[in-house]
Amino acid sequence: MKSPELTAELIKKIAHELGSTLVGITRLNPDWVYLHPLTRRGFENVDEPLEVPKHWEYAIVVGTPMSWDPLYANPNYGTSMDAYARSRIVAARLVAFIKKLGYAARPHIPGNSYDLMVPPICVDAGIGEQGRHSVVITPELGCNFRPAVVTTNLPVKPDKPIDIGVQDFCKHCKICAENCPAGAIATGEKVEVRGYRRYHLNAAKCNNFWNSTLGSMGCRLCIAVCPYTRKANWLHKTALKVTTNDPTGLSDRVLTGLQDSLYPGPDPQSYYIPSLGGENASYREPPWWLKTEDFVDM
Ligand code: SF4
Ligand code: SF4
Repeated sequence: MKSPELTAELIKKIAHELGSTLVGITRLNPDWVYLHPLTRRGFENVDEPLEVPKHWEYAIVVGTPMSWDPLYANPNYGTSMDAYARSRIVAARLVAFIKKLGYAARPHIPGNSYDLMVPPICVDAGIGEQGRHSVVITPELGCNFRPAVVTTNLPVKPDKPIDIGVQDFCKHCKICAENCPAGAIATGEKVEVRGYRRYHLNAAKCNNFWNSTLGSMGCRLCIAVCPYTRKANWLHKTALKVTTNDPTGLSDRVLTGLQDSLYPGPDPQSYYIPSLGGENASYREPPWWLKTEDFVDM
C-alpha cells in the first residue's frame, strides 16, 4: 500500500461503493473485545478468556440506516434486521476486498459473529457519540443505524472521536429515559463501568421488555424518540449546528422542549401488549403498509 492515508481513503470509498452510509476507522482497543464471545458456544475451552488475535489491529466500522417510517411508527416492526443485513453484506464484501489486497480481515456482524462491543468502537472510529440510551448518535443519521465491524491488519490511518455536543445535550434531555417502557435507561449522572464513565443501561430490563411484549426483534423506542433521530433536512442540520456551538446549554433546553411538544409520545405503559396492561401503542402513525387492519378482518 502506498500510505495509511491513501489506504483509509480507498477503504472509505469502497465501503460507500458497497452500500455503507457511514464509515469510520480506529485502532482496536482490546478492552472492547469480549473475553467470552457468544460465537464460542459449543467449542472446547470456552471458559478460557479469548486472546485478542494479533491481526485485529484496526477496526473498520460500517453502518446503514433502518427504514425511517416503521422505526418512528411502531417498535414492534423488525426494521433492525434490514439495516443489519445491509451492513453485514458491506462488511463481508469489504473483508473479501481486503483479503485480495493480501491482508487478514474478519467481519463482526450481528446474528452469529459479534466478538466485539460495537458502540465504543463506533465512538473511537469517529462515527458518533454514545448517548444516554447507550446507542451511538451520528451527525448524519442520529442513532438510526445498525453497524458491522471489520478487524484487520491492513495499515490504515485511523479517524478520531468526534464531538457533536451529545454529552452536554444528554445531561438536560432525558426523553429516552422518560419514554422507555421498561424503565431501563438511567435518569441520573454517568457512572463508572470497568474504568469508563457512561450512562447505565439496565440491559436485563430492556431485554425482558422485548421478550415479554415484542418478541426478539427488539424495541428501538429510545432510538425513535431521540431528538437526534431526524432526517437530515435543513431544520435539523441547523438545530445540530446551534446546539453544538452553544456552550450555555440554553439551546439544548429549548430544543428538548420543542421535541416534547412537537412529537408527544403515548404513556410508556401503553406500548405493552394488552395482556400486560398495555395497548400495543405506536409512537407515531404507522405507514399504510403496516396497517393490516385496513385489509384484513382482525
Ligand atoms: S430498546 Fe426499548 S426497552 Fe430497551 S432501552 Fe430502548 S426504549 Fe427501553
Ligand atoms: S433522547 Fe435525549 S437523553 Fe436520550 S440519548 Fe437522545 S439526546 Fe440523549
